[in-house]
Amino acid sequence: MNLHEYQGKELLSSFGVRIQRGIVAQSAKEAVDAAKQLTEETGTGWHVIKAQVHAGGRGKGGGVKLAKNLQEVEEIAGQIIGMDLVTPQTSAEGKRVHQVLVAEDVYYPGESEPDEFYISVLLNRATGKNMIVYSTEGGMDIETVAEETPDLIHNEEIDPSTGILPFQARRIAFNLGLSGLAFKEMTKFVTALYTAYDKSDASLFEINPVLKTSDSKIMAVDAKVTLDANALYRHKDLAELRDLREENQIEVEAGALGLNYVDLDGNVGCMVNGAGLAMATMDLIKQAGGEPANFLDVGGTADAARVEAAFKIILKDPAVKAILINIFGGIVRCDRVAQGVIDAYKNMGNISVPIIVRLQGTNADIAKELIDNSGLDVMSATEFQEAADKVQTVLA
Ligand code: GDP
Ligand code: MN
Repeated sequence: MNLHEYQGKELLSSFGVRIQRGIVAQSAKEAVDAAKQLTEETGTGWHVIKAQVHAGGRGKGGGVKLAKNLQEVEEIAGQIIGMDLVTPQTSAEGKRVHQVLVAEDVYYPGESEPDEFYISVLLNRATGKNMIVYSTEGGMDIETVAEETPDLIHNEEIDPSTGILPFQARRIAFNLGLSGLAFKEMTKFVTALYTAYDKSDASLFEINPVLKTSDSKIMAVDAKVTLDANALYRHKDLAELRDLREENQIEVEAGALGLNYVDLDGNVGCMVNGAGLAMATMDLIKQAGGEPANFLDVGGTADAARVEAAFKIILKDPAVKAILINIFGGIVRCDRVAQGVIDAYKNMGNISVPIIVRLQGTNADIAKELIDNSGLDVMSATEFQEAADKVQTVLA
């Protein structure tokens, strides 16, 4: 589950990580009030207005702007709220902005130049350890840095049983070229950052940029936080931060029905029981010259109600030109599933795309008979290859 920048920053702050302070606003008027309050609390005269959407690269798309007075705060917030923000990480339609973060300007002039770093914490699945990836090249696309100057990206492996050790925090601060107050600030910053990552069961913290201010404070200017959805039951407060508006609407609906559904770009809808079979089915569709429109695992209990719910979910995707149902009847008997498909089909009435049903396993022969004699526009198959051939025929 992804958090908004403002939510991520609040989480960081609660663990003692210094952040660029800000207040979230839903309208231009609220933005002005927020700016006034920030000026009172921090003394800042300038504010940055930042679109809150689940996508990076907002700066490049015009979703992060500096306001030098309250009138500019109002104007810029008015422009950004309601816009469809297109960034290198969104689709061409962009993402609708519902709220902005009004933040204090932290790039103020002073005794030294502000400097931007990159720091992320994530799980290294190969070693079973966490790692802190960091670079002096902050504020830019880390993928570009990795491609062009990989030597400038460092990596500190953290053993989850000990957590980050003081010498590791010092090594990071050293490799980032810091000294004096900034060095000390950085050791505190990464230690608190790692603790926040660990204690919130996150799978990714990406802070880009981490800023050294002109007076040598180290703070998070941006925050991309991904929490491990499987651990959310331990964090009721964090689970509440989920913003359904940011997620794929069909996936949200499927999730509410208990279906494992992932939306994809292709034209063949799939309804399968079991994740392994679902993946094999997607390969089969590709082999037949189609592209899967989704991954959908209906689970072990494919009764009529579930099959109907799954049909409805698949058909919400206008790109679907055919549906392949591929069910292995182990615990659930094939004739039950076949009856479920027939009932769902009759119930829904107006399914206009061809459906290929492959049922294999217990009572597969009875199931095939049921489908063939149902009088519905449903093609049956018992073999994998047969199903593939039928998909190919209907797509031709
Ligand atoms: P992203 O583009 O989605 O990654 O959003 P960021 O939060 O990283 O902001 C984009 C850029 O805005 C940063 O890299 C900074 O250069 C700039 N920025 C952020 N906060 C401030 C600020 O307080 N003052 C100024 N002048 N620039 C800022
Ligand atoms: Mn950023």
